[in-house]
Amino acid sequence: MNSWISRVGTVSLVFGLVACGAPKSDDSTASADKGLKVVTTFLPITLFTEAVAGDCATVTALIPPNLGPHDFQATPADVSALGKAQVLVKNGLDMEGFLDKMIESVDNSELVVIDTSKGVATIDSPEGDHHGHDDGHDDDHGHSHGEINPHIWLDPLRAVQQVENIRDGLIAADKSCEEGYTTNAASFVSQLKDLNTEFSAQLKPYAGKTFVAFHDFAPYFAQRYSLNAEYLVDLPEMNPSPADLQRVAAEVKSSELKALLSEPQEGSQSFNALAKDLGVEVVVFNPLETGSEESARNPQTYLDVMRENVANLIKAIGG
Ligand SMILES: [Zn+2]
Repeated sequence: MNSWISRVGTVSLVFGLVACGAPKSDDSTASADKGLKVVTTFLPITLFTEAVAGDCATVTALIPPNLGPHDFQATPADVSALGKAQVLVKNGLDMEGFLDKMIESVDNSELVVIDTSKGVATIDSPEGDHHGHDDGHDDDHGHSHGEINPHIWLDPLRAVQQVENIRDGLIAADKSCEEGYTTNAASFVSQLKDLNTEFSAQLKPYAGKTFVAFHDFAPYFAQRYSLNAEYLVDLPEMNPSPADLQRVAAEVKSSELKALLSEPQEGSQSFNALAKDLGVEVVVFNPLETGSEESARNPQTYLDVMRENVANLIKAIGG
């Protein structure tokens, strides 16, 4: 209920800022509505879409950036925003569990949906391996990790594919700005490829090492850099069982980890207590499921946060 109120506040603030930033605008509403109307779901999808859209489209996040997809429940205002959009961009792979019903309830037959996971090589979620898969999640309540792990955006090269899918989808919806979308996407893709080159060099000495994250977000990142990703719980909102805590404790001892990788969005009390018990530190690996309203406007956020993540990861695995 609170989040709904704060969402209204944030949205009007953003439009206010856009209007202020356009010096010669005689109609603030018009300036905020320029070009193709694109709605995105959560933070990385918003960042990638902003990078491609440039001045060609107006990008609005459906989920307020401070809420992860797992916290999201659609309000009538969200449904109305989707009703007015021309394009919807999603991560896909069941990350946005609330979306299908929402699209159905919106009377918008023109809406183009871009699934950024199209053609991306996926990794299955380990069914019942550690935690006995509890899929009693309400479909309206997102972040319902299904059989496939959805966190593809944390691998910079899979992120390249997501950006290219966004580029192709926006061009198909809006030929008039083909050159803009192509140039913008190429620039961001080259930054993502540089990021991957940088990480490959930095992480090469640690190939084969294991790290422990809070929830199961890291298999794509780990696979890219030949690391092993362990985790305490499947989903950020879950509480660890005694067996989870024992499993992680054993992993920390056998791998000589110096730190557990916490994340900004979770209630990390259990993780902090566990780290204390084991005599290790806690450092942050931000899976970018949430962020500030300001950070969501700047695609550079993805690159900055990932660089911080890798620096912290190296501390955790003993660099
Ligand atoms: Zn997640």
